[in-house]
Formats: sequence, structure tokens, C-alpha cells
Amino acid sequence: MSDTPVRVRFAPSPTGSDAGSLHVGGARTALFNWLFARQTGGAFVLRIEDTDVKRSTIASEDSLMDGLRWLGLDWDEGPDIGGPCGPYRQSERLYLYHETAQALMERGLAYPCFCREEDLEAKRERAMAEGRPPRYDGACARIDPPVAAMRAESEPHSVRFRVPEREVQVPDLLRGEVVFGVEAVGDFILLRPDGMPVYNFACVVDDAAMEITHVLRGEDHLPNSLRQVLLYEALGLPVPVLVHVSMILGADRTKLSKRHGALSIDHYRAQGYPPEALINYLALLGWNPGDGREAMSREELVAAFSLERLVRSPAIFDPDKLDWLAGLKIRQAGPEALLEASRRYLPDETDARRLRMIAAVIDHLRCAADLPEELQLLRGERPELTPEAQRWLENRELLQLVTNLLAQPLYGDGAAAAGLPAGALTADEFTRAVKEAGRDLDLKGKRLFMPLRVALTGVDQGPELAAIAEILGREEVLARLRYSTQEG
Ligand code: GLU
Repeated sequence: MSDTPVRVRFAPSPTGSDAGSLHVGGARTALFNWLFARQTGGAFVLRIEDTDVKRSTIASEDSLMDGLRWLGLDWDEGPDIGGPCGPYRQSERLYLYHETAQALMERGLAYPCFCREEDLEAKRERAMAEGRPPRYDGACARIDPPVAAMRAESEPHSVRFRVPEREVQVPDLLRGEVVFGVEAVGDFILLRPDGMPVYNFACVVDDAAMEITHVLRGEDHLPNSLRQVLLYEALGLPVPVLVHVSMILGADRTKLSKRHGALSIDHYRAQGYPPEALINYLALLGWNPGDGREAMSREELVAAFSLERLVRSPAIFDPDKLDWLAGLKIRQAGPEALLEASRRYLPDETDARRLRMIAAVIDHLRCAADLPEELQLLRGERPELTPEAQRWLENRELLQLVTNLLAQPLYGDGAAAAGLPAGALTADEFTRAVKEAGRDLDLKGKRLFMPLRVALTGVDQGPELAAIAEILGREEVLARLRYSTQEG
């Protein structure tokens, strides 16, 4: 690799729905570019490609930036902070595209095209019906240049690139040279009649002007890269290193969509997923560190990332794996990180009790949105008993014995040590009472724990029972045990 400092960019089109414009695929592209920039000490540029005037909105642009910020993908240059290669919104760079198109026309490498959209459309349809590729037939390419230039003064026209009649090789870091035949592409438009550039043209002008060294984007952009390579060659500019990252597919191997549970980044944010989980998960879609590691911190990802370890085969989006990583990150961050989110669900508790309640259920969480369901066991009404759960309550002798043991604290007062008021039930006391009851009645395993679990929570699975008992407190535990003894 040369010594030129790395400059990469993320170049989204702000045409998504206003809430949640950044999707899983875009976020992954942004992440790979960001990781590469951070690892190499290069620059990560944010460029807004808003030349589709009808579909671009400021709200979508804001939402994209918001999503990137939430993921912690900070940019070094961009529309909001400026930088040496600004402006960073394509709608503010139109003069550059016009200048470049003019230069290409002067060299005979582009020409004005006066074909009307409806005629082009009719020709396209005919070609398709006859099984030919719908390429431009070159009608305006043959107009004498001085005549064309004169007509262009008064007639509406687009500007078209004159595609050379030869094979084109698109260098791709992962695939080697991808060869496109002469027929692959016809003369294509650079500027539309309204003066707006098409994506491929604006992209090349900007990547060159912004001195972008590496372009990492989805494999679906390969046909665009073909056009872009032609433009670099015509402009006498070096082609950046092109890296086409694999597509992301659903489990059924079709293109990823909402159906597969893959959504906008905002969705995960609203659910309270930790951004670290998304970063970790997205990094593994089309890349791996090569040593079997999966759970990785942001810093570890930056250190381990390499273009060489990007994989060519499609990545399969697996929501369960994302949830697994989310659970892991939640446990790593600890209960404190969820305190704020828990206030909504536990309005009447103290922070100390909230933290204990979160600690009791944290092993079962993927995101903050899971909190209310998990916390439900720890507050208020017990859920309705299912017939299977009911079955566990038949051993009244056990429930009675534990009730008696807990009614008068027998094991000294460990409450102070556990940071609880004097006389409070501790997890430790509860465990010892259960053990004693088990010894007395010769019960262990499920036959010992299930009746107590169902009596206290109403369901046959959940967080550690002693932790639940401590949170419920002596009075509530006794009330639930007594109630279940009558029910059983
Ligand atoms: N605006 C283009 C897109 O969102 C950028 C593609 C590229 O990275 O060149 O697809």
C-alpha cells in the first residue's frame, strides 16, 4: 500500500423515510469505512448525495446523521462540520459537475443529447421486446459537434458520455479484475436536462475532488463502478481502490428486507439495543477477524479490521445472533446503564432497588424494551397460572415449611451486610431456608425449586429465584407463598 493517507467516505442519499433513514446495509457500509479510517489514522468523510431533488429531504439527512452519531461513527469532514474539500452536499457542488461535463464535451468525450424522454422510453421498450439490451442507440452521438453546440444554446438537452467501444476492467480488491464486455454499457447520461448530475458522474467528480483513496460499498454497485472507471479514465484521474463488499441476505437467501427482521437503525435504537451490539454485529456481516472471535469491543474491531479479511460470499442477517450480542453487551455494561430506561417501568422505586431489580433480570435482556416484561415478575400482580405451572403447586408441605422458615428469621440478620434494612429478607437467607426445607423433605432439583418459583412468580422460568425473593421482600414472599398454599 502507498503512503498516501487513507481517505474514505460514506455517501448516503437522503431519500429514506424521515424517521429511520439509516438502514442495516447502509450502516454496515458506513461502519466498514469508519473502521478502516480509524485503524489507518485516515479520514472518514460524510458526503450527502442529494441530487435526486424530488426524493431528497432534510429530515432524512438529519435522520441519517443522527443514526451515525448514535452508532458512534463520527466523521472528520461533513456537511455539518465542513472540511478542506467542502461543500459536502452534492446539491451545493453543481458548478463542479458542469465544469467537468463542459471539459469532457470540449474533448469530444461527451455530447449534448436532445432525445426526448418519451422517445427514449419507447426505444427502450422496443429493445426489451426484441430481447436486446436497452442501450442508447447513439442518435445524438452522430450530430456534428458545432451543430450540436449551437442547438444546445437553445434546446433542452442532457449531456451524455461517449462510451469507448472496448472491454473494460474494473479492479476490485476482493475479486481481482472484473471484466465487462463491449456491450455492457451504452452512452450514459452525465447531466440531466435540468442540470442535475446523475449519481455515477457526481460520485466520480467528488471522489476525485475529495481525494478519496478507497471506496468500500456494496457489491450491487459493481455496474456503477464500470461506469465510474470509464469516467476516471476519460478524466485522466487515478481510480481509487475499489472494494465491493458482499450483499446482506435474509435466512432464505433473498435480498434483505423488513421481512427478515432487518430494519432501520432507528428501530433498534428505539428498542433500547446497545449501539455497541449493532456495531459488533454489523462488523461480522461480511468480515471476520480470522481467529474465531465474535464478541468484540469497538476498540478491538478497530484494531482487528482489515480489507483482506472481507469475505466475498453473501452475509446472512441473523436477528438471533444480534440479540445474543445485545444481551452480552448489556451484561458487560451492567445494571447502571439501564437505570435511566428502568425509571419508566419502575416509577415508584428507589434507584437502589431499581438497580437490584435490573441485576436480577439482566441475564434475560437483549434491549431496554425487554425490561417491562422481565420486571413484571418482580412487581405487583402475579401473572395468571398456566395449568403446567399450577401442577407444581401440589406440594403444599414444601410451601408451608418454607413459609414457616421465613416467617421468623432463623439465620441471624445478614440484611445490613446486603445493604438492606434490618430484618429484611436476603437472597442468602432465602437460599438457606430452601436448602433446609429440601433436606427435611428429601427434595432436590426441580421438585424443590419449581413449586417455589411458581409460587413466587407464577411462571416456571425466569431469573434466579433467591434474587427475586430478596427484591420482593419478606412480606410479599410470605403473602405469595400463603396464597399459593391455599391455591395448590
Ligand atoms: N449515494 C449512493 C448510495 O447511497 C452512494 C454509493 C457509493 O458509495 O458510491 O447508494
